[in-house]
Amino acid sequence: MSLDHETCKKCERYSEEFNKRNNNLCVHLEVTIFNKSWDDRTQTSRRPNPERKKKKKEEIKRSVSALRNSLGGQLLIHLEGLSPEDQSKGNFDEFIDDDLQTIINVDETFDDVYYKKTLQGDPEFVVIDIEPSSAIIITDPKTKFIIDKGFTPDSAQALRFFLKHISDAPNSNHSEVKHRQPFLNDRTLQTITEKRDIQLKGFVFTTQEQTKKKAILGDTKQFVDHLWDLRLPLYVTALAKLKEIGSFILGIGEKEKKFQTKIKGKPVKYVSKTFEDHGIELPMDKYP
Ligand SMILES: [Zn+2]
Repeated sequence: MSLDHETCKKCERYSEEFNKRNNNLCVHLEVTIFNKSWDDRTQTSRRPNPERKKKKKEEIKRSVSALRNSLGGQLLIHLEGLSPEDQSKGNFDEFIDDDLQTIINVDETFDDVYYKKTLQGDPEFVVIDIEPSSAIIITDPKTKFIIDKGFTPDSAQALRFFLKHISDAPNSNHSEVKHRQPFLNDRTLQTITEKRDIQLKGFVFTTQEQTKKKAILGDTKQFVDHLWDLRLPLYVTALAKLKEIGSFILGIGEKEKKFQTKIKGKPVKYVSKTFEDHGIELPMDKYP
C-alpha cells in the first residue's frame, strides 16, 4: 500500500478484525468524493474534486487487482459520512463499477468476480467479495513490449503470454545479455536500419540551443534526465524481452529527404527519411 494511503480508526479496527479471517484491504472513501457537495449558504452544489476522485479510483483499482492476484479476498470500503437515511448506493456503484469492470478477464463476468454487501452492524462499510483471477491482473503495466514503431501502449495481455512463455522455456535467450551493437561510425551509419531491436534517438539542438547541448553533455545528471525524457527506461523493459535483446542508440536521428522516382513511367518525387549522425562526444572524464 502506498505511503499516502488514507486511513482512520474505524478502517484500522475493521481491517484488523477481517484480517484474522481473510485477505483484505481497506479503502477510506469520503462520500463527497463520489457525491456532489451542497453549500447551504450559496444554495449551490459542487462537483467532487477531480484530483481526489482520480486518486481514490486508482487506490481502489490497485487494491482490487492486488486481491485478485492474491487468491481473492475482501475489499472493505469505508464510506465516511454516509447518512443512515441514504439507502441508495447508486452514486457509489457509478463511481467504482467501470473500474471494477476493467479488472476482469475476458472469460469472466462482473457477476463471477464481485459481490457487494453492506457490513452488518456498520452501514458505513461496503464489503466487496473478490474472486481470485485465473491470469495475472495488471492495471498499470510499467513494462513495455517492442513493436516496430516503438513500444506498445498497452502490454497487460502481452505480459501474461510473455510470463507464461519464459516460465515454459527456462533456458531461453532471456537469461543473458547477448546483444552488442558494434561501435558506430560514418561507415556503419550507412548500413544501419532502424528495426525492431535498434531504437535510434536523435540529439538535435538549434543554433540557439548549443549551450543547452553542451550543458547536457557536460553534466551526468542532466544527461540522465535527458535519457529519461526520451523514455529510455521504458525502452529497456521492452527491448529486454526480445530474444536477442536490443540497442538504444542516442545521437542518430532521422532527416527528411526527397526521393526521385518514376511511377507508371512518370517522374515523381516523394519525401522519406534518412539517418544522420548528431555527433555526440561525451567528455571521457565524466563518462569513462
Ligand atoms: Zn475510514
